[in-house]
Amino acid sequence: MDKIIIEDLQIYAHHGVYPKENEIGQNFYINAELETDTRRAGVMDDLNLSTNYGDVCRFLHSFLTEHTYKLIETAAERAAEALLLTFTHIKRVTLEVRKPEAPIPFPFQSVSVRITRGWRRTYIACGSNMGDREACLNHAVACFRKDHRCNVARVSEWMETTAYGGVEQEDFLNGVIALDTLYTPEELLERIHEIEKSQGRERVVHWGPRTLDLDILLYEGCVMDTEELTIPHKDMANRDFVLKPLAQIAPYERHPVLDKSVLQMYEDVRQKGEKHVISGK
Ligand code: ATP
Ligand code: CA
Ligand code: CA
Repeated sequence: MDKIIIEDLQIYAHHGVYPKENEIGQNFYINAELETDTRRAGVMDDLNLSTNYGDVCRFLHSFLTEHTYKLIETAAERAAEALLLTFTHIKRVTLEVRKPEAPIPFPFQSVSVRITRGWRRTYIACGSNMGDREACLNHAVACFRKDHRCNVARVSEWMETTAYGGVEQEDFLNGVIALDTLYTPEELLERIHEIEKSQGRERVVHWGPRTLDLDILLYEGCVMDTEELTIPHKDMANRDFVLKPLAQIAPYERHPVLDKSVLQMYEDVRQKGEKHVISGK
């Protein structure tokens, strides 16, 4: 992706662990790499189509002088998030906060923290087979819409499906949400658990009835497998009730381990005769 680069923006501010640093202040230097598509702005020679680096410098100056943090880690973290929330063309930012006058009793050039933060595309499967199923799924979408660290990009149709996994129970309503998020996968899982709980979700029988189930299917190109979290979702390639709605909104998205598109996975699962979806285009 294209980058707009700001080097050594000097800002006199008051971040530091020592009270003296908060009182007197010192110079900080900011390096920022803003990942954004500059093609249209470049071709049209139109600033309105790009991110104004002057505005970004003013923004960083105000932000880092109006707030005081103990750690430059925090200064970088908060400033990066504020930038991403304010300048909508920026997809990702690498921000370095440098502190060459830090109180260290040795000769040194500089100390700094450099972080990269950005919007990540994720797909969330939703399912419900208790209570007002449609209201539960719509509630999940509304929760993500209200969350400023999430942007709902697309929502599939809600599809009527028969239960999967062998437990005799009511039919489900299933769908998929495409989301751009600032949360890490672990933070997103926590957020999902909160939303499930707000709909009265209780874990009684594995694969049993539930008011709301939210699963992370894909999270950008991420591949991880911990006790808490497996991404891509470990069973997604075997579930037509996940792949059909996912194919509606992201047919060419790829599974990073199987290296197959959503459409290919959906075709494969249909060939195997897995059929749970009983509605949907
Ligand atoms: P399945 O994951 O097979 O659809 P389930 O959704 O019924 O089953 P839950 O009881 O909702 O299972 O979740 C159990 C745990 O699975 C969660 O607490 C979470 O820690 C873990 N988990 C692992 N990977 C994921 C993922 N990709 N998305 C959501 N939860 C996950
Ligand atoms: Ca599930
Ligand atoms: Ca789940």
